[in-house]
Amino acid sequence: MPGEISSQDAQRYRTAWHSYVARRNLVVVLFLSFVFVGFMVAKLRLGELKDFSILVGWIAVYLTGAWWLTEWRCPRCGKIFANRLWTQRCISCGLSKDEVAARARMKS
Ligand SMILES: [Zn+2]
Repeated sequence: MPGEISSQDAQRYRTAWHSYVARRNLVVVLFLSFVFVGFMVAKLRLGELKDFSILVGWIAVYLTGAWWLTEWRCPRCGKIFANRLWTQRCISCGLSKDEVAARARMKS
C-alpha cells in the first residue's frame, strides 16, 4: 500500500530524525557560542595573535559541525541529504524533512 511503511522503516526514520536533530542543534549551539566567544575575545584583550588563534580555532570547530550536518543521510534513499545547510528536501529523492519528522513521530 502506498503511504504505508513497515515498522522497520519507521524505526529507520526515527533514528535518522534523532540524528538530524542532534546535528542541527549542535550547529545552532556552535553558532550561538561563536557570538559569545567573539564577545569574550573582544573583552579579554589577550593580544592579536591569541584573539586570532581562538577565532580561527572556533571557526574550524563550527565548520566541522556544519560539515557533519551536511553528512546526514536521507532515510529513504540512503544518500547524502543535501550538500548545504538548511535544505528542506533530499537532493536525490526529494523527501522533505517534514516528512521524515512526521514519520519519526508515527507509532510503529
Ligand atoms: Zn533521499
